[in-house]
Amino acid sequence: MKILVTGGLGFIGSHTVVELAKENNEIIILDNLYNSKIEVLDKLEKITGKKFKFYKYDLLNKEDVEKVFEENEIDSVIHFAGYKAVGESVEKPLMYYSNNLMSTLNLLNIMKKYNVKKFIFSSSATVYGNKETGICIETMGRGETSNPYGTTKSMIEKILEDLYASDNTWNITILRYFNPVGAHESGLIGEEPNGIPNNLMPYIMKVASGKLEVLSIFGDDYPTPDGTGIRDYIHVVDLAKGHVKALENMKQGLNYYNLGSGKGISVLEMVKTFEKVNNVKVNYKIVERRAGDLAECYADPSKALRELNWKTEKSLEDICRDAWNFEKNN
Ligand code: NAD
Ligand code: UDP
Repeated sequence: MKILVTGGLGFIGSHTVVELAKENNEIIILDNLYNSKIEVLDKLEKITGKKFKFYKYDLLNKEDVEKVFEENEIDSVIHFAGYKAVGESVEKPLMYYSNNLMSTLNLLNIMKKYNVKKFIFSSSATVYGNKETGICIETMGRGETSNPYGTTKSMIEKILEDLYASDNTWNITILRYFNPVGAHESGLIGEEPNGIPNNLMPYIMKVASGKLEVLSIFGDDYPTPDGTGIRDYIHVVDLAKGHVKALENMKQGLNYYNLGSGKGISVLEMVKTFEKVNNVKVNYKIVERRAGDLAECYADPSKALRELNWKTEKSLEDICRDAWNFEKNN
């Protein structure tokens, strides 16, 4: 199968390329390198022993994107490309709406023109919005999002629903990721956020390596067993495998799946596990809650198991070990 992977040199895209390559797929990568490095391409070739066709193109440039479809007989598209920093999206909403929405619309218009109608979209648990309970089930529908980044995900889901309603020959899979963390066990690819990280796992690594002094834990007065926030952390390799399964088991129509472990982990549990597995110290202090944070958010992953035959295999220990291995290598 010929698969176009947009954003394929980014964190989740690169790990997915590795898993797709195991299945003898022909993979075409498109990325504008806004948030990734060209060296990742060499690393992918080193890990897989395969060569990939790469286009350093921006999805905002329709002519360029069209060339990719002109030159390759693409069967399906996995669309990772987009901006993803929650805080930045609050400061620069137009930049987020422009890039995330326009790039997706360009891509879908060109897919339609070339009659390529298999599409997998990277959505997020953030579309569930504020809920009474921590568990997220696909049947719950979307809630009110709390930042422009999340709103782009909700809006794209809606666009895909309208597209499918207008033409039911599309096969669209919407994957709602929980908290992707960890790295490839080779230590060659992983997450490399620019500047001071916003997310928990990259921040823990900066503190453990002495690049930052102390982790601020945002609140210990939540109604959770130890008072700190609970999330569903998923190893990026498990997540990548979810995409292979989603492609293999793609059903006619438009389908949503949670990709998460189903297990809620608290901030303190994460810190303690990281320290124990890697034999390092993570200095932390408790500070005020962060605006917009939920107490608890975790997946009901049973639909993905039932319909895609996918579930997470890696443990929290694997996540902590692989993330630290990548940090040390880089
Ligand atoms: P990433 O930033 O590492 O990868 C995205 C890639 O897309 C980057 O390599 C970037 O250069 C590229 N890109 C951005 N805009 C582009 C454009 N206009 N044209 C071409 N390339 C472009 O992010 P990631 O963590 O790998 O996330 C992948 C997808 O999954 C994103 O859509 C993200 O919103 C979604 N997602 C991520 C998380 C997470 O926590 N990492 C959670 C839920 C959903
Ligand atoms: N968190 C924290 N300190 C940090 C970053 C995150 O205590 O420096 C907490 C945050 O409040 C949440 C959990 O860690 O409970 C995961 O946060 P992250 O930003 O990684 O993911 P999200 O909140 O988007 O699910």
